Amino acid sequence: MTQVSDNLHPFGDDESDSLHEECGVFGVVGARDAAAVAALGLHALQHRGQEAAGIVSYDGAEFHVRRGIGHVAENFSAGDAIAELPGSVAIGHVRYSTTGGAGLRNIQPLYAELAAGGFAIAHNGNISNALHLRHELVSKGAIFQSTSDTEVIVHLVATSRYPTLLDRFVDALRLVEGAYALVCMTPKRMIACRDPLGIRPLIMGRLDNAVVFASETVALDIIGARFDREVEAGELIEVDLDGKITSHRPFGKPQARPCIFEHVYFSRPDSISGGRSIYSVRKEIGAQLALEAPADVDIVVPVPDSGVPAAIGYAQQSGLPFELGIIRSHYVGRTFIQPSDGARTSSVSRKHNANRALVEGKRIVLIDDSIVRGTTSLKIVQMMRDAGAAEVHMRIASPPTTHSCFYGVDTPERSKLLAARLQVEAMREFIQADSLAFVSIDGLYRAVGEEKRDPECLNYCDACFTGEYPTRLTDLAERTGQGELSLPIGKVA
Ligand code: AMP
Repeated sequence: MTQVSDNLHPFGDDESDSLHEECGVFGVVGARDAAAVAALGLHALQHRGQEAAGIVSYDGAEFHVRRGIGHVAENFSAGDAIAELPGSVAIGHVRYSTTGGAGLRNIQPLYAELAAGGFAIAHNGNISNALHLRHELVSKGAIFQSTSDTEVIVHLVATSRYPTLLDRFVDALRLVEGAYALVCMTPKRMIACRDPLGIRPLIMGRLDNAVVFASETVALDIIGARFDREVEAGELIEVDLDGKITSHRPFGKPQARPCIFEHVYFSRPDSISGGRSIYSVRKEIGAQLALEAPADVDIVVPVPDSGVPAAIGYAQQSGLPFELGIIRSHYVGRTFIQPSDGARTSSVSRKHNANRALVEGKRIVLIDDSIVRGTTSLKIVQMMRDAGAAEVHMRIASPPTTHSCFYGVDTPERSKLLAARLQVEAMREFIQADSLAFVSIDGLYRAVGEEKRDPECLNYCDACFTGEYPTRLTDLAERTGQGELSLPIGKVA
């Protein structure tokens, strides 16, 4: 789900920092107190979106909607909140923080009364031709309630000329490009589907006789459901209110291109994706990093929490001690969610503190999962030096993030990505580390058990590291007259 700016220029310089698309989705059919189940599931997906949460339930006669700004627990722990959402069918959504102009109207699930009846939709991902479609719809008289790209799908379903809701839904999806994992609900069924490349994750599970959909397997663990399978790339699964499941393939069986950044950072380490433990993959990335970029140091220190599994892998591979040289406060949100660079910098120091007694006099290698703007790395390196570290080396468990994501991971515009402007040595200078190295793209693929460009292997969407976008980017192309902005290397924006 993307929030587009009111002036409809989402990639404009002023607005690009207000694009925040990470989200988590959940759906359940056939459970007693479906909303309570959804609230628990969303709670396990809270890391995917902390700005707002919503649940829509259906009790066989009516839809019930409750959405609010803030965490799941703030919105759905009180008994009366769940009591307002009766029924055995529910979908839910958690949404990532936005820096401006969010408002209640963009909180999902979106709900609309269509000619065929009620329709609720929860979306994780980003539609890369949403503006184009929106302009077309508005010129035909559509009146949008929100600035979210997801509402485009609602309008396309509403205006499709096909007779059944399912056909209308597929008709709508055929016009949409980009990334989507969707869970939708009508009075007769739940529909869960992934875009033709399966860029964003979606899995299916069973809770007794109930069918469950969620962005990650951790949402099944928390409700005691068992994992059934992943919704496949381009697959649309329909579950009627009796629990009958039908799989549709409106896009044939395209080659999947799931997002590799889910493995690097976004998914919870205790989730399983593509049959692989995210935790094990992260450890393996750390091991690859140790092989590719060893460091002559005394201790391996993770940047908590995102660097921890990779640091364990790095330490085990290199035979160096793993030590907690940075202690993290758990009462400060993710650094990234702060609205301005100033606030972001100060939040890094509120969130992390040096373990001075350990660090003093030591040569350390810091491990983090990624460098985006460089704010965190700069601050942490300085923190280690202030605590008396003799040498501070930095190793990053992903390749340089050189390109913005247009598929649902929150990255700033390219000019704000440190690696889009600077080569590695200049980045090292910028963050003031004694050395800096990133895992190679081949090392990253090895860690997920694949081989890049091998047609026999799963090729991920790795556009943030390679600039190889697997879909058209119509809105961007229409705005810039080209694909991604090309940037001269050597200047920090
Ligand atoms: P920065 O300080 O801008 O270089 O951001 C890097 C830090 O943000 C790393 O510690 C990552 O763990 C974290 N990070 C990277 N990508 C994202 C993202 N898409 N959303 C939230 N946090 C992120």
